[in-house]
Amino acid sequence: MRLIDSHGHVQADRFAGDVELVLGGARLAGVERILVPGWDPDSSAAALDLVARYPWLDAAVGVHPHDAASVGDEGWARIVAMAADPRVRAIGETGLDSDRGFSPFPDQLVNLRRNLALALATGKPAILHCRSKPDERDAQDALVAELRALGFDGAPARAAFGDRPPAIIHSYSGPLDYGRTVIEMGLAISFSGLVFRAGEEDSAAVVALVPRERLLVETDAPFLPPPGAPRKRNEPEWVRVTAAWLAEQRGESLDVLGDGLVAAYDFVLGRT
Ligand SMILES: [Zn+2]
Repeated sequence: MRLIDSHGHVQADRFAGDVELVLGGARLAGVERILVPGWDPDSSAAALDLVARYPWLDAAVGVHPHDAASVGDEGWARIVAMAADPRVRAIGETGLDSDRGFSPFPDQLVNLRRNLALALATGKPAILHCRSKPDERDAQDALVAELRALGFDGAPARAAFGDRPPAIIHSYSGPLDYGRTVIEMGLAISFSGLVFRAGEEDSAAVVALVPRERLLVETDAPFLPPPGAPRKRNEPEWVRVTAAWLAEQRGESLDVLGDGLVAAYDFVLGRT
């Protein structure tokens, strides 16, 4: 089966000792490309360093909502400079998180807006993390409002992206009607091991609604291990577990799904 991992933080410290082995394991599992998102300036630079060593990886640069309060204008200027690099295929990860509150929400909004503006300016899709507390949806609703305010569902996005999605909803989490909304807005949706957790049951219905050319799968390594993966450190090869679940939800063979995932990765990241 052909695979991609649309979101794996293989530049994280936890992989520093054996990244070569981890990437080799991914190749053996059929993973053809991994998008490596930064979460702050240093991790974004580290993603680019890794892409220089392994050209089958792609980089993304941006600031995570958890780090929104700690990255100032100087750090942001580094992100903007790196975003011009052709090996940078997306802006992020960014987004909103009202669950854990590592940065105050107003700081997260300021951070999100400048990441979104950078995505529009570069024509590189924004990678969006979005989590609310269990059974709440305030972060999802706020994210949709921000995307609409900046024209991610209209002419500004079309001018910058043509028919490509202007953003990727990473590690999908939320109610079914939110899923419908972001699909209607033309965004790409990426599913992670989060789909197996209690409280995320609506994801199964969303999977069936995503057009093939906008359907992605990811590990969010080293986080969110799916069933069977090591609890302590998820790795890109385990993307196959979530991919198999996607195929099941869509009633597709692994081969058909896998070919679609590879094509969607190239389309969404402008590699075709
Ligand atoms: Zn992530």
